[in-house]
Amino acid sequence: MSSIPGAVAVLPERTSVLEDAHAQLAVAVADLGYDSGTHAMLKQSRRELTVSIPLRRDDGSTEVLTGYRVQHNISRGPAKGGLRYSPHVTLDEVRALAMWMTWKCALLDVPYGGAKGGVTVDPRTYSTLELERITRRYTSEILPIIGPHQDIPAPDVGTDEQTMAWMMDTYSVSQGHTVPGVVTGKPLSLGGSLGRASATSRGVVHIARAALLSVGIDMPGSTAAVQGFGKVGRDAAHFLADDGSQVIAVSDQFGAIHNPSGIDIRALGHHVDRTGSVVGFDGADEFDSDGLLELEVDVLVPAAIEGVIHSGNAERLRARVVVEGANGPTSRDADTILRSNGVLVAPDILANAGGVIVSYFEWAQANQSYRWEARDVEARLEERMLAAWRSVSDHAHTHDITLRAAATRLAVARVTEAHRLRGLYP
Ligand code: NAD
Repeated sequence: MSSIPGAVAVLPERTSVLEDAHAQLAVAVADLGYDSGTHAMLKQSRRELTVSIPLRRDDGSTEVLTGYRVQHNISRGPAKGGLRYSPHVTLDEVRALAMWMTWKCALLDVPYGGAKGGVTVDPRTYSTLELERITRRYTSEILPIIGPHQDIPAPDVGTDEQTMAWMMDTYSVSQGHTVPGVVTGKPLSLGGSLGRASATSRGVVHIARAALLSVGIDMPGSTAAVQGFGKVGRDAAHFLADDGSQVIAVSDQFGAIHNPSGIDIRALGHHVDRTGSVVGFDGADEFDSDGLLELEVDVLVPAAIEGVIHSGNAERLRARVVVEGANGPTSRDADTILRSNGVLVAPDILANAGGVIVSYFEWAQANQSYRWEARDVEARLEERMLAAWRSVSDHAHTHDITLRAAATRLAVARVTEAHRLRGLYP
């Protein structure tokens, strides 16, 4: 992973995602009529581990990084959630992301609780060998609480299948035998699932298609803008274009590009492979990063980081539908503004759940030592995404609430039911 010389990262206003996550839960708890004890159980993380990661740098110096692993809830199964490498990671951010994982797994009915991990590191400024040492030391530090039946990490911002291979190896060495089910999002040759790498993006596009149809727009002939050109945004842009949508703007942390006649996403992919950024692509003009969010498009896919749609820009959004590829891209205040302006928001815990669904398939394949065909993975993914879309949109219509409120309510009810059935020990 390398940085672009001279390029400046564009950082949005940071909002408190944990406050937003807590507020969403409070609304669901009030609507469902749960008592304060139940609310407290749903709010509090089950386990939180903060670890020091002493790192020997390639130049011989030592530095100490901080890592987190938060297991928000394990009432429905082992904890599940990604690992993020970013200089901005905080414990509160990891707590919020872990809580959203709990709701996502419950909403999609995969047999997991929710977790998330993070290391405060900018992976672009470390060598591959340093990243390997960071990953192995972090894995060793959180070893007591992870495992194929305890907590199963996966890639997220700043990590990839190589990171998962190192984690799997470190865990396996500690056990004395290979344990492929301890992580998902592994390379195919180590037991990864066909279709995992693009699963989140495929899911995003299934939901985009359904959401557009619900407002009377067909995907072919529609227009789209995608923020972020990483693991989620890049394939989402591809699949949107493959389905006949004209992707007119794309951005990454270094800037945005725009072409009102549509961007050739495949050619852009080649450019990014060569240069490391969408900036400088000759099939589009340079554009204002913030302006991308405000373009008049049928579908806007934020697929970068949280908090990018906030009270300061929500009024200016002109997309008909927002499909949240990222986790927490829309703040609570922005949600209210978008609803009153008639912008339909397909929430993160629904829209980007494709990754965890195929992670579940990968874990099931690892546990069975059996590989499914790509077409089976893709068909089952689509089936589950569309079933979840139907239940969320029906619930939202019946109760005249947002898709986010409906999705959270359905998920919280499922988790609470698991708590109720299991009872309290002792
Ligand atoms: P990634 O690190 O692969 O890519 C992130 C992309 O966002 C990069 O292109 C980066 O340049 C860009 N970016 C960062 N800051 C930006 C900014 N301020 N403006 C515009 N672009 C910016 O990460 P990813 O795995 O694609 O994850 C993106 C989002 O999707 C995160 O919120 C993540 O939690 C969520 N998500 C990921 C998965 C998955 O399977 N990878 C699953 C569900 C949700």
